[in-house]
Amino acid sequence: MASHIVGYPRMGPKRELKFALESFWDGKSSAEDLKKVAADLRASIWKQMSAEGIKYIPSNTFSCYDQVLDTTALLGAVPSRYGWNGGEIEFDTYFSMARGNASVPAMEMTKWFDTNYHFIVPELGPDVKFSYSSHKAVNEYKEAKALGVDTVPVLVGPVSYLLLSKPAKGVEKNFSTLSLLSKILPIYKEVISELKAAGATTIQFDEPTLVKDLEAHKLNAFTEAYAELESAVSGLNVIVVSYFADLPAEAYKTLTSLKGVTGFGFDLVRGDKTIDLIKADFPKGKYLFAGVVDGRNIWANDLASSLATLESLESIVGKDKLVVSTSCSLLHTAVDLVNETKLDAEIKSWLAFAAQKVVEVNALAKALAGQKDEAFFSANAAAQASRKSSPRVNNEAVQKAAAALKTSDHRRATNVSARLDAQQKKLNLPILPTTTIGSFPQTVELRRVRREYKAKKISEEEYVTAIKAEIKKVVDLQEDLDIDVLVHGEPERNDMVEYFGEQLSGFAFTVNGWVQSYGSRCVKPPIIYGDVSRPNPMTVFWSSTAQSMTKRPMKGMLTGPVTILNWSFVRNDQPRFETCYQIALAIKDEVEDLEKAGVTVIQIDEAALREGLPLRKSEEAFYLDWAVHSFRITNSGVQDTTQIHTHMCYSNFNDIIHSIIDMDADVITIENSRSDEKLLSVFREGVKYGAGIGPGVYDIHSPRIPSTEEIADRINKMLAVLETNILWVNPDCGLKTRKYTEVKPALKNMVDAAKLLRTQL
Ligand code: GLN
Ligand code: ZN
Repeated sequence: MASHIVGYPRMGPKRELKFALESFWDGKSSAEDLKKVAADLRASIWKQMSAEGIKYIPSNTFSCYDQVLDTTALLGAVPSRYGWNGGEIEFDTYFSMARGNASVPAMEMTKWFDTNYHFIVPELGPDVKFSYSSHKAVNEYKEAKALGVDTVPVLVGPVSYLLLSKPAKGVEKNFSTLSLLSKILPIYKEVISELKAAGATTIQFDEPTLVKDLEAHKLNAFTEAYAELESAVSGLNVIVVSYFADLPAEAYKTLTSLKGVTGFGFDLVRGDKTIDLIKADFPKGKYLFAGVVDGRNIWANDLASSLATLESLESIVGKDKLVVSTSCSLLHTAVDLVNETKLDAEIKSWLAFAAQKVVEVNALAKALAGQKDEAFFSANAAAQASRKSSPRVNNEAVQKAAAALKTSDHRRATNVSARLDAQQKKLNLPILPTTTIGSFPQTVELRRVRREYKAKKISEEEYVTAIKAEIKKVVDLQEDLDIDVLVHGEPERNDMVEYFGEQLSGFAFTVNGWVQSYGSRCVKPPIIYGDVSRPNPMTVFWSSTAQSMTKRPMKGMLTGPVTILNWSFVRNDQPRFETCYQIALAIKDEVEDLEKAGVTVIQIDEAALREGLPLRKSEEAFYLDWAVHSFRITNSGVQDTTQIHTHMCYSNFNDIIHSIIDMDADVITIENSRSDEKLLSVFREGVKYGAGIGPGVYDIHSPRIPSTEEIADRINKMLAVLETNILWVNPDCGLKTRKYTEVKPALKNMVDAAKLLRTQL
């Protein structure tokens, strides 16, 4: 009876690690205090898994920041600018790499595959001197052992580590980090031998890059690496785990042929092709770690269906070789449902967070071993049945409307240049029109007003008065600055997805359903459990109030369907695109109500469109097709004179430029200021773009105030590749996290730059 957990959340059920980290960073507590909180969290996780009866309990999946950075520390691959002089890497060096320090900025951070977790990107060059510089894996193994728990130390696999690295500054761009394989393997050998000496019997290597479409030489690197490690791991059980998608057939072959490896872990939730590969050919005598419990969402497992899958696998790999596991680390789900005291009881019965998923894994393993907990299985079956038939999940009218969308296309009646002409007649904007992305600084006072209103400490009337005053302040400021297209500043919103989710049917919210995004930062995604509909207008009151305060055009501000989808926990009982179409219909109603209320410029943010891009190339086109279609559904019904804007939050969009054009927005504002060249190169290469475009002219992620010259210089660069009449001038993203002392001068310089250039054109 074997059960295994790939990895576990670190933050703690009530974000204990977050608060301990931030207090330490603020100098309010000592390193010892932080270490104590971390050790307590680890202990409680290990004890919980051990009490449940999990056989393979992971260690070293805890981290004070990030597991990839932990690996960088393990290998001593600290970039020289952090001034580290060898020896065991301590918090000062570690957190300098993660967050920067007074004199050196942080290392780059990027998304961990298609999750919302971000890792610190290793920077490697041909001259890095690797040395075994963090004994964390061994220390944690020993720590658990002292508590009576024998764990499986988990390491980021050597090949994935290198494939996720980038060439260091000053190193040729085409330097292959993979060429360092032979230099890092000796360090892996050192760790392995120390772990062995400490008593470890099983080691896990995470090699998630195997799910990507890797070229042959990259796949060969896996073969070479594990062959090289073979003698070091002899006597150990070695598990190599892949996750987040189906494995390409070639990668499956490579993985299951690795030398010295005794078990293979697969994500059997995302995609359904890996299971066919296993059924067709699984190496004799090896262990299969079958990831049937989803680590990426918060839904209770359909135990009966998982058990059937497991039984079918058992007949292939043999009873004693099958291990029940999670699809990936539970890092990507919420921590413990126990703390959700406010959640509706029926909805709660449909959910499982990390702590509950551990129980599910164990229940499945026991059932396979002939010790099925009938009561647990029947309670689960009852919850599955209630979820299927619940009237709160099913809304026939919505289902019908969404189904009808699939077969038809949705496009505006007129082409973009005709629309822009019609809009210009109405809006009468100068060339290089200026605007902002939506939010204005959220002051402490503003957050207090929202909090008190939610807690019913102030009346609706007081709340409306306060928000109106805030909008007026923002409108007046923009008029003073002479911005052309205004925003209301989004003071009523805590979060661009939560704000809409709270007003749509089919969404639920947790109190503690936090998921680590990066470092100490967590997000609390809404849960989409049912068919989505919009009972009432959501933004019309605030947008029309704001419009009434000015003669200038006021943008109505909405979050688009794809972004709402990608930043939520999405139901798993229907395809994602169906849920997306439902949200699109709700947003469409809102767009049309805004138009009726006299709002003539409407921005539909699709900040997270690119984030949903599948990991496998073969699946990209399908995703982009329904995602872009969903966006168009929201606004295909508006008049030519209504100007639709969208905003996107990523600089790397060259590969999906044709999909972006296919969204057919009238104006797109896009994050750009940290990578001017990348964006402009697309247009230089001759991509035809006729709609309005506002590549951000300054970086709002930094407190730095850009000068007029600097912004003018940027705009000039853009003018060299883009037609004058389509260019907009705006910051990179919303101003929510900035201070007024930064925003005022920055926007003033931005408007001055636009005006200066207008006189020169
Ligand atoms: N309109 C949103 C804002 O300005 C957009 C935020 C985003 O792109 N992440 O805050
Ligand atoms: Zn943005």
